[in-house]
Amino acid sequence: MTFTLPDHLSVRGGQLYIGQHDCVNLAEEYGTPLFVTDEERLRSNFTRYDEALKKHYSDVQMLYAAKANGNLTIMKIFAQLGAGADVFSSGELHMALLAGMLPEKLLFNGSSKTKDDLKLAVEKDVKVSLDSFDELRQLNEIAGEAGKIAEVSFRINPAIDVPTHPKIATGLATSKFGIKADQIVDAYRAAMECENILPVGMHCHIGSQILAVEPFAKAAEIMVKVAGEITDLGVRLTFIDIGGGLGIPYNHTTETAPTPEEYADAVMPVFLNGIRKLGIKPQLWVEPGRNLVGDTTVILTKVNSVKTAHKKFVNVDAGFNLLLRPAMYDAYHEVIVANKADHDYETEYTVTGPICETGDIIANDRMLPHVEDGDIIAILDAGAYGYSMASQYNCRPRCPEVMVFGDRSGIMRRGESVIDILNTMKKLPWHEK
Ligand SMILES: *Cc1c(COP(=O)(O)O)cnc(C)c1O
Repeated sequence: MTFTLPDHLSVRGGQLYIGQHDCVNLAEEYGTPLFVTDEERLRSNFTRYDEALKKHYSDVQMLYAAKANGNLTIMKIFAQLGAGADVFSSGELHMALLAGMLPEKLLFNGSSKTKDDLKLAVEKDVKVSLDSFDELRQLNEIAGEAGKIAEVSFRINPAIDVPTHPKIATGLATSKFGIKADQIVDAYRAAMECENILPVGMHCHIGSQILAVEPFAKAAEIMVKVAGEITDLGVRLTFIDIGGGLGIPYNHTTETAPTPEEYADAVMPVFLNGIRKLGIKPQLWVEPGRNLVGDTTVILTKVNSVKTAHKKFVNVDAGFNLLLRPAMYDAYHEVIVANKADHDYETEYTVTGPICETGDIIANDRMLPHVEDGDIIAILDAGAYGYSMASQYNCRPRCPEVMVFGDRSGIMRRGESVIDILNTMKKLPWHEK
C-alpha cells in the first residue's frame, strides 16, 4: 500500500479487512459485486460531526442528507443518534419517517417539487424549504385546503464560488437552486402575507465535496446578514440551516479534508457572533451527507479478466452502474487488491467495469500488485453517492449491501435479480393476441 488506511480498514495476513472482516471472505460469502459498510465507522463519523458543532452551541440539529446513501438501516442508525434528514423527494420523506425520524427534524428540499410532494409535507407536518415564488403560492393553497399553517424556509443562493467539481457546486450565482440575494427580502415579505404560511427558517447549501472551510464561513456570514434583514421584517427565525458539503479525501495520497472540528471552528464563531448581534437564538441546522457515510463503505468487485491492449486493463464486475462518480464527476477512488494487500505495487493498470461504455472506468493508470482473474478489488470510499446513484443499466440487477458490526455481518439490502427488473415491464394491450 502506498497510503495510510483509515481506522476501520486494515491489512492482516496480506488481506484487506473492513472492521473485523476479511474482505475476501465477505466476497466469497455474499458474492460480488458487493457494498460493505462498517456500522462503527458510521456511528463515529456522526458523533464526531455532531459533537464538533455542539462544543460551540448546544442547539444544533443534524439533518442527514438522505440522498447520499438512502439505505433504511443507515437512516435508522442516524435516527437513533438523534438525526433528522434533508429529504429531496416524497420517497426520501417516507423513508425518513419510516426510519423513525421525527417530522419536526425534517426539511423537504428541492427546486422542483410536485404538488403531491407539497401535499405530503403538509400532511406529515414537515417543513418545506421553498425554492421559488410559484412554490410559495402553491404551498399556501395546499396548506389552506388542509386547514393547516405550513412552516417554511427559503433556500437562499449565497452566490459563492466554491472549489469543487462544477456539477456539484450548488450555490453559484448561476445555479438552479435557491432565491437570488436581491429577491430574498421580497420572498419573506410575500410569505408573511400568505394566510397559510409561516416563515420560520432560512436554508442554504453551497455544494458538495468542498475541501476548504472558507466557503462555509463565507456562507454563514451571508446567512446571518440575511437573517438580520428578515428579522427586521418581523420574521421569527427558529432555525438557520447552513447545509452540508464538507468533503472527504478520496485520493489518500494527495488530498486532505478539513476535519469536522476545523469546519466547526471556522463556521461557528461567524454564526454565533451574527445571532448574538441580532439577539436571536435559532437552532442551527446542518445537512451533512458525504462526510458521514462516504468513507464507511467499500465495493468489493471481482476481476473477470486482465487484458493487455492500449494499456493493461483489469476488467471487474462493478462499473458505473454501481459507482457513477468516476464517470460523472471524474472522481478518484482508491482501489486495493484485497487478496494481495501487502504485495508490491509493481504494475500500472486501468480498472474498468462491465458496462458497454468507453467511459466505464473505475480507476485510471494505477500502480497495483500483479493482478489476475479471480482477484478481489476493493473500491474505497463508496458510501456516498454510490448505491444511491446506482442504476440497472445494461439490465444489470443492483448488487446487495452488507453491514458489518463487530464480528457480525448481515445483508441490509438484498441484491436484485433479472426477474425484479423484468417484473416492472408490461405488455401493451395492442400487442396482445
Ligand atoms: C446533497 C445535499 C446535501 C449533502 O451534501 P454533502 O456534500 O453530501 O454533504 C445537503 N443539503 C442539500 C440541500 C443537498 O442537496
